[in-house]
Amino acid sequence: MEKVLKAGHPDHFIEIRSGQFELKSNNAVCPYLAKDLSCSIHELRPQACRAWPVHVRLKDGEREYLLMDCLLTPKLSEGDLREMKGQAARIRTENIENSFRCSRLSKPEIDLIEKRFRRFKNRPMK
Ligand code: SF4
Repeated sequence: MEKVLKAGHPDHFIEIRSGQFELKSNNAVCPYLAKDLSCSIHELRPQACRAWPVHVRLKDGEREYLLMDCLLTPKLSEGDLREMKGQAARIRTENIENSFRCSRLSKPEIDLIEKRFRRFKNRPMK
């Protein structure tokens, strides 16, 4: 967050717990998404965005890595996927635990985000 603000980008972060931030939402759309659908903070994007299309979640207390089937996925090499899984591995467990539990987003926005998310097929990664 500090790097984004230091670079002069607008502040779209909200603190959900001490030292943990989430992005505010414009009707369930990231505020850093540019009109041309690029990321306006690409070089400084959050860890979960760096990891995409690898998604990490907790299942029975253990980390589970899922490869999401989006338009980008077939274009990635095995090396790319290893790199993205490495990015996902850097996401702190408490951030995974708290992301939706402590979210300040409205219930309809969370429902909409989850609905979009469920549209992607996924498969566990080794
Ligand atoms: S990559 Fe992340 S920060 Fe950038 S527009 Fe997409 S969701 Fe927002």
